[in-house]
Amino acid sequence: MYGVCMNMKIISLVSILFLIVSCGGGGGGSSSYSSNSSGSSSTPTLENLNSGNACKKAWYTTTFPNPTSQNAVFSKHTFFWQSISFQAMPVCINTYEVTDSISSVGGVSWTDYTTEIIDYSKRTLGQIVPLNVFILGANPQNTVLDSEKATYNTDFATVQAPVGSNYSTALANYDGFPIESAGGGYSHEAAPNGADIQIPQSLVWGQSGFASDEEQIQQSFKVIAHEYFHVYQNSLKFYDDTTKTIALPKAWFSNPSLLDPTSASTPAYFPWWIEEGGAEFGGIVLSAKYANTKAGITVDPVQQFQDHFNTAFDHFAANAGASLSDFNLSGNVGYSAGAAALLYLWYKEEKNFNAAMSKYYTDWYPAEAASPGNGWQDAFQDAFWKNGSEYYTLSEFVSEFNTWIRSGSKADLWNTIAKTSDQIIHTNIIPTTPNTYPLPYDIEVTAAAKVIDNGGVNKYFIDGIQQKSLVVKAGQSYKFSYPAGHPFKFSTTSDGTHGGGSEYTTNISVGTNEITIVMPNSSSIPRLYYYCSAHPGMGGLIDIVEITSSGSSNSGGVGGGGSGPGY
Ligand SMILES: [Zn+2]
Repeated sequence: MYGVCMNMKIISLVSILFLIVSCGGGGGGSSSYSSNSSGSSSTPTLENLNSGNACKKAWYTTTFPNPTSQNAVFSKHTFFWQSISFQAMPVCINTYEVTDSISSVGGVSWTDYTTEIIDYSKRTLGQIVPLNVFILGANPQNTVLDSEKATYNTDFATVQAPVGSNYSTALANYDGFPIESAGGGYSHEAAPNGADIQIPQSLVWGQSGFASDEEQIQQSFKVIAHEYFHVYQNSLKFYDDTTKTIALPKAWFSNPSLLDPTSASTPAYFPWWIEEGGAEFGGIVLSAKYANTKAGITVDPVQQFQDHFNTAFDHFAANAGASLSDFNLSGNVGYSAGAAALLYLWYKEEKNFNAAMSKYYTDWYPAEAASPGNGWQDAFQDAFWKNGSEYYTLSEFVSEFNTWIRSGSKADLWNTIAKTSDQIIHTNIIPTTPNTYPLPYDIEVTAAAKVIDNGGVNKYFIDGIQQKSLVVKAGQSYKFSYPAGHPFKFSTTSDGTHGGGSEYTTNISVGTNEITIVMPNSSSIPRLYYYCSAHPGMGGLIDIVEITSSGSSNSGGVGGGGSGPGY
């Protein structure tokens, strides 16, 4: 049951030989968000084959680019594509032999569902690296034409072969068939060329044995979101927010065995149960949020979590010496044990939901920088709370979880940690990179009765999420449309005038049920709040990032803000 969502990419990229083919046409690829022009007739240089940010093309091949700065631990890179804003970071949807349709479900095709789920995930978590998505439609997979295999192999290897002197050999010899699982990620060896997701339809939507149409839908949607989460978690861990560089650990290049679960003694980046359990946790959450916005689609994220809990409970019950740390480096039960452990953490402290969805991965780079080789456990201590005021060390959490999951009946323990579907869909995530798009940054705001938390009547909803936290780019213009009767305003104070603050009116223009704002670009205003001028308690927060101005000259009267969300 786990095969469809295994992510062996980082491991396989170490061991698989790739090769080179000369051209990468065909395949029906398209780019949703970047110009896909290949019109440049100039001879590509060795290090810039993709100045137009086209799909299925490499930015770098022969030479791994030199770092823009470095220290003993990291080489820190500014790749060509880092000139693109995060919000405009390309997502390329490359399709191959798309033959099946699931238009009976909500009137949307398989390819469109995949695209929508990835878009929704990007709009929720953000995206910091370019992404090529490879959708292989042939079902069964052994019907793929040889010519299409060659095209797929060429395209995939073009953007995912390890960059450097062996690129040509690797690309020429790559054979990805049969594709044995869905996959997704962002590897250090191919970091200059972005991330990838592979979605073989035969192994996702085409699996047999689903109990119902609903189960088929929710499992398939979860796998797609799971793979996006891998891209998210594995790219975020390299991001040095201070220098705005992609910081790659030098040790991984000089000693690849650090990443090999058959020889390593400790995780190089994340415990496997967080790598995969975290992607399951994120995949369930993201696909439930997405499904919530789609008429005619029903998923049951509570049941999805319960299935994982049950698998974990049974494993620990049947193996007296079993520990969560058994899954630090590998193991299929790690998917379930990790998802159950993260759900337990959410039960222990509300803030741990955001830690599981974002903060652990944001914290990885500074933790690794502070103590090389220990980011996997120090980031845990930086992100996960034991209670309202103390953090867990990873080892004390593992010990506590091992005891807890054997401390009662399956039903009682499940009832202790279970969340409702509304909690799963609506509990807030505060990512650290922009989570709004697409151009031209039109954001539709609706109002409806609250679904979680106490008090108040109506709440604002954005992207289907109650009081969604937005992360926006400083200096960028955003237009919000809102329902009549709920005037949408901004303030530097939470809940605006209802919270004792005043309306923020700089660079604002108001139309009929819409308001446009150029986000402040000032370090003194790192956060705004949106609120309804007619009703208290409806709004949420807007974190402003990529600030380039110190703002010291015009910061009069700014309150609030501070140093970010704190979790
Ligand atoms: Zn995975």
